[in-house]
Amino acid sequence: MPSAYYAPLDQPQTSSDDDEEEDIERHQQQQQNKRHQRRPKGAAPSIPFLKAHPHSPMAHLRGSSGVVGGRRRCLLPLLGALLFLIAFCYFTLGVDTRLALGLGGGGGASDDSDDGMHSLDGILSRALNETLHLCSEGLLDRRLYVQDKPMEQYGHLPIIYFVTPTYPRREQIPELTRLAHTLLHVPRLHWLVANDQEGCNMFMDMMLKKFGIPYTHLASPMPSNFRKAKPAPRGVANRRAALQWLRQRNLTNGILYFGDDDNTYDLRLFSEIRQTQRVSMFPVGFIADYGVSGPVVRKGKVVAFLDSWLAGRRWPVDMAGFAVNLEYMAQFPYVNMPYKPGFEEDRFLRSIGLRLDHIEPRGNNCTEILVWHTQTKNKKAAVVRLESEYLDGRSNLGALFRSLKIMGVASASDTEGPKALISKNGKAAAHSTILS
Ligand code: UDP
Ligand code: MN
Repeated sequence: MPSAYYAPLDQPQTSSDDDEEEDIERHQQQQQNKRHQRRPKGAAPSIPFLKAHPHSPMAHLRGSSGVVGGRRRCLLPLLGALLFLIAFCYFTLGVDTRLALGLGGGGGASDDSDDGMHSLDGILSRALNETLHLCSEGLLDRRLYVQDKPMEQYGHLPIIYFVTPTYPRREQIPELTRLAHTLLHVPRLHWLVANDQEGCNMFMDMMLKKFGIPYTHLASPMPSNFRKAKPAPRGVANRRAALQWLRQRNLTNGILYFGDDDNTYDLRLFSEIRQTQRVSMFPVGFIADYGVSGPVVRKGKVVAFLDSWLAGRRWPVDMAGFAVNLEYMAQFPYVNMPYKPGFEEDRFLRSIGLRLDHIEPRGNNCTEILVWHTQTKNKKAAVVRLESEYLDGRSNLGALFRSLKIMGVASASDTEGPKALISKNGKAAAHSTILS
């Protein structure tokens, strides 16, 4: 189902760096109440770019439309009002468009005072994700058996929405292949693969389709201004796109889990998180200095957190260390994840109004590691000197290098890179001897 659309979410962004002065949750609650007053439940959401914040000039204009109507006979004021309206629309659209493009206030995502999300108006009017692009989708589970049981036996289980941000680099395809082979053992799972690139990767479309797991392939590039930031908000645009996808489909049944493409997942993780009522948490192995990050549990309750990097975070946990019930999440229309490296988990969990007594410890009361923050060594894609005249159907090498190039692993060149060493009987042979 190849399709292409860009759809900004009708939803403001929430973020605040100042815990004391601006309580995100309280602010959200207020906005939520206002929103409920404005829009009856079930009513269609308004178009984001035309939606006015109650205190915005546009809201004022809307309120004054009756005044305009009341002066129908007077042409001059009507014309004036019309011009005023057009000017204001133009101005408001300009601001929103700038914000939606991530240009609202600079791109220094690593800097507290310069992450483009301090202005309350910006927070309220910025869409959750500005460039969500649906590449392909397979809703049918084509697997006949999972863990030696026929698929029908799993029908009653809630679906796990496994969100994987990924980005083009040499290691991308092997990472996703390895992850897919874990997920193939998991019943009732929808894999949301959100690629950090401008267009759709057709090779990935095909690959995902072949696995037979229900999936959605999104293209959701990081806004260019954030890409320059050091550190850059890695995997945020894609996770935001996945949140938007869930929201657009009104999916309120199931479990959300953020599973990076390079982590290692124990199959028990999936049965553990599937029972999540609100938010479940568990330790993640290989995190930072302690080799672990996770909740401290006493008498079956989460009472604190163990993590070597606090930075004032209320929820100092790793992205892979929690799961969220979608029905619970649906109560929080301002769910968000800011472009703020290191604070994504904390701010996301705040945006869904998490309370300590709501957290469900998993993994035998957080004594087991069900997920590892493994990291793959990154290397540049290779360039090999291999004459293009030989990369035809006479040998396998043409097709092999075409495939490696598509996967971003290696490419053949007539002029660059070390000469390809081709050998026979332990001796290097001339390319022409073997390939012509
Ligand atoms: N990622 C991304 N765009 C980037 C860098 C990373 O989408 O520019 C994804 C990556 O594929 C992974 C997640 O974001 O799923 C976290 O990135 P990474 O594993 O590099 O970070 P780390 O685990 O080391 O914090
Ligand atoms: Mn990683």
